[in-house]
Amino acid sequence: MEEAFVSCLSEYGMAPAKAYQQITEELAGDGNPYQDLGSFTAVRMQPEANRLICDTLGKNLANQNEYGETTSIHKKLVATIADLLHAPDPAHAAGTSTSGSSEACAIAMLMHKWLWQAGTTTESRKPRGIPNIVLGTNAHLVWRKFALYLGVEVREAPFDGINNYPLGAMLSLIDENTICVVAVMGSTFSGFCDPVKEINGALMEMNARNGWNVGIHVDGAIGGFILPFVTNSRKPVWDFALPLVRSINLSGHKFGLVYPGLGWLMLRDQTMIPEHMNMTASYLTGNTQSYAISFSRSSSLVIAQYFNFLHYGRAGYGAVIEKCLKNARHVASGLEAMGCFELISDLTLPVIAFSFTSGLEGREADFTSALRSKGWMLPFYQMPAGIECKAMRIVIREDMSRERLEALLTDIAEAVASLSPQTCLYRQAG
Ligand SMILES: *Cc1c(COP(=O)(O)O)cnc(C)c1O
Repeated sequence: MEEAFVSCLSEYGMAPAKAYQQITEELAGDGNPYQDLGSFTAVRMQPEANRLICDTLGKNLANQNEYGETTSIHKKLVATIADLLHAPDPAHAAGTSTSGSSEACAIAMLMHKWLWQAGTTTESRKPRGIPNIVLGTNAHLVWRKFALYLGVEVREAPFDGINNYPLGAMLSLIDENTICVVAVMGSTFSGFCDPVKEINGALMEMNARNGWNVGIHVDGAIGGFILPFVTNSRKPVWDFALPLVRSINLSGHKFGLVYPGLGWLMLRDQTMIPEHMNMTASYLTGNTQSYAISFSRSSSLVIAQYFNFLHYGRAGYGAVIEKCLKNARHVASGLEAMGCFELISDLTLPVIAFSFTSGLEGREADFTSALRSKGWMLPFYQMPAGIECKAMRIVIREDMSRERLEALLTDIAEAVASLSPQTCLYRQAG
């Protein structure tokens, strides 16, 4: 039955305390973000960060001259992130905060498209056909979405199997109208990291052979704030250290550890910004320059990112990531010990994608609703083309303590037992 329309704009309003109480009661029906297993975004920050966020909510990031200190903090953050990503000249770094990685991906695609149109990335010829981007099927939906908006053709290379990047198939899709290759550092489906170093090497050779100049955009929404702080030897080379990596997006609100609403677009250097894209607005005090899509945004989440950099430092971020990775390995082996799950993720990042082994296939909906009755929200979805299975995903975030994860493993074991006591070996994780 269709719900009748009820306007929430009353004639005379109500007292703030009453409105507060009513909204709080309504929101109590929401899920608990701490039990949102599939989500990448930060759910908590330090009390001092919360205070700074409240203090700065009313400062508009677009008013750059009015809020000169905020503008200079923004600039410092861009240079710091550029340095973290091995940009050639961090002091003159190019980049901007955005509302999330999605906005950053949209701007990046526009920049690559305009550079291709201007012929500056492809000296030897003028553009002829329809521009295209080339990526693996593990890329996020935003790339298909903005390609559609911007008239760019998407060419997808299907995976050869789990954790097996289709390098050959990807290369065969590139031609003179390719505006860039998108590599994903941390697929949303599994946390799998595309081999950017190999892609860079193969592309250098291909460019030299054909007189092209196809570059790489790295979607670092998940891994962008993880990989710079990982110290183990399996750490991949993926950022501006590779010559063909020209732009990178990161989600400040994922492992940048800031609340939802903050992303970053980082560019190799200023030449990535097409002249006409660097808009100057003169109707506020003085001139302001921006190449983000949004004009007005609160400065509070940029300030929150600044707080995290000052508070955590490199060692603090490193410790958070190390804890998440350790917890991810613990939960993954707990799942494997139950005998009815197959691990999909390689755990380079703290993302655990897994599927049912034979016997329980097709029971994902029953399983996740059994967990939902205990408050846990666990997504399940079809893996991308080339990988024929349904996956479930647990993202191990900063807020997840070992105790809560033990409780989760117990609830998972019970949920599995309720489905099919005879199918699983079902050993309690020790
Ligand atoms: C989350 C995500 C995005 C979208 O980013 P938002 O920050 O949510 O806008 C893009 N790409 C990947 C790989 C992601 O995981």
